[in-house]
Amino acid sequence: MSANSPFSIYQIAKQAIITGIAQSSDANPIFTTMATFLGNLDDNLSRFENANQLKFDCKPSCDYCCSYRVEARAHEIFYLANALESLPQDVLTAFKARLDTTKATTEALTVPEHLATNVRCSLLGEDSLCVAYNARPALCRNAHSTDVSSCELAYKEPTNQDVPNNRDNALDQATRSAILGMNDAFKDMDYDDTGYELNQGLWLALTQPETKTRWLNKEKAFPTLEGNITTVV
Ligand code: SF4
Repeated sequence: MSANSPFSIYQIAKQAIITGIAQSSDANPIFTTMATFLGNLDDNLSRFENANQLKFDCKPSCDYCCSYRVEARAHEIFYLANALESLPQDVLTAFKARLDTTKATTEALTVPEHLATNVRCSLLGEDSLCVAYNARPALCRNAHSTDVSSCELAYKEPTNQDVPNNRDNALDQATRSAILGMNDAFKDMDYDDTGYELNQGLWLALTQPETKTRWLNKEKAFPTLEGNITTVV
């Protein structure tokens, strides 16, 4: 990833998605293409860490960043919803109960209020592990940290805008370029490219099957949600 400019990373990512999906109107090729793309994103982060002798503080069960507001595109939400079908029944049942609560909590907040409030993601299990780690949204994959003390401070002081950014700048830029390439590929193919609050979008995807039909028909997937994109990719 480091050998390429952000623009070439963007172009490569975008082309990979467009080529993978082609003109398909079926969800399966889309999910297969996304699995490859998102897996590559994880691999590239690991490769960059090793090649540049960085040492990220991220480790299993460290969940400070899982209380941030996460925005995801429709393609990520339906990919995630599809993956959740493979969860063991007890894990799925517990997740759905958390999702009901988190959906109600987040929809009562304005976007600025949510950005200044810790709301534990419904996908985070009791063991502080993501129950859908392999299908998590792209922004979660870029949440690497070179200093866990900054993560802790941001968690303890969610209204504090002065907590230093603890990401590696070059890696952050490269990853964002790839994510933007993915999102722009869907946008160019006329799919809904709105950024949706993750829990609210996921709740609709799981409880209202017609949302997936709308998405595949290239309509707004979740017209009842405010499509307010606040996270710059
Ligand atoms: S989707 Fe998973 S990784 Fe992302 S915030 Fe939720 S629990 Fe954390």
